[in-house]
Amino acid sequence: MKSKTFSFPFISLLLLLFVVLSAAKSYDFFYFVQQWPGSYCDTRRGCCYPTTGKPEANFTIHGLWPNYDNGKYPHDCDYENLYDATKIEDLLPEMQTKWPTLACPSADGNKFWAHEWNKHGTCSESILNQYSYFQAGLDLQTKANILSILEDADIRPDGALYSTEHITEVIKEALGVLPSIECNRDESRNPQLFQIYLCVDKLGKDFIDCPFYPKRKCSPEIEFPAF
Ligand code: 5GP
Ligand code: 5GP
Repeated sequence: MKSKTFSFPFISLLLLLFVVLSAAKSYDFFYFVQQWPGSYCDTRRGCCYPTTGKPEANFTIHGLWPNYDNGKYPHDCDYENLYDATKIEDLLPEMQTKWPTLACPSADGNKFWAHEWNKHGTCSESILNQYSYFQAGLDLQTKANILSILEDADIRPDGALYSTEHITEVIKEALGVLPSIECNRDESRNPQLFQIYLCVDKLGKDFIDCPFYPKRKCSPEIEFPAF
C-alpha cells in the first residue's frame, strides 16, 4: 500500500497558519488600569455602590488588558472559556474590596469581572488562567498602592487642584516607571484625575516602562475629588 506523504508546500502552509493563529492570540504587555472611585461617581452619569456596600476610598482595579507594542490590542479571544465565578471563589472577598463595580444598577461585581475576563483576560490565557489573571490584578494593586504614594507627596483626594505633571512624576519616582494619567470631568465639567495606567510585563508580574502610551491628555491642573 502506498503511504501518504505531504508535500513541502502543504506543510509550509500549515506551519504558516499555525504561526499566524498563535500570533493573533498573543500579546506584548499589559495595561494595568486603576480608577479613582470619586471621579467615577461625581460625573453626570453618576454611579451605584456595589451590593456589598460603599468601597473604601482607594484606587480600585478597572482591568488588566493585554496589548500589542503598536498600541492595538486583542479582545474577546475565547468564547469557549467564558467567566466562571466558581473558579475564583476564594478570591471573591478580595475582589469585592479591590475590584468593586460602580456601574448602575448596583451589582455584586460578577458582571464587571465577567466583562473584563471575557473581553481582555481570554487574550492572555496562554499565560494566565482565570484564577491567575484575577490574582495578578489583585497583586498588582497591592504592589502599586497609588493612593499612599500620592498622599506621601501631599496629593490628597480633597477636591483641590494638582499638577498633572507632578502626579505623574511622583508615581514615576515611587514605582520606577512612567504612568499615564486619564482624566474625566465632574458634573460641572471640571477635569479630574480618573484612571492611572501602568504597564506590566507579559507574566502580569512586574511594572515596566510602557512600550506605547495611550494617547490621552489631561489639563495641566486637575482636581482630585473626595470619595
Ligand atoms: P475608552 O474608549 O473608554 O478609553 O475605552 C473603552 C474600553 O476599551 C476600555 O475599558 C477597554 O476595555 C478598551 N480599551 C481602550 N483602550 C485600550 C487599550 O489601549 N488597550 C486595551 N487592551 N484596551 C483598551
Ligand atoms: P471596558 O471599558 O473595560 O471595556 O468596559 C467596562 C464595562 O464594565 C462597562 O460596560 C461598564 O459599564 C462596566 N463596569 C461595571 N462596573 C464598572 C466600574 O466600576 N468601572 C468601569 N470603568 N466600568 C464598569
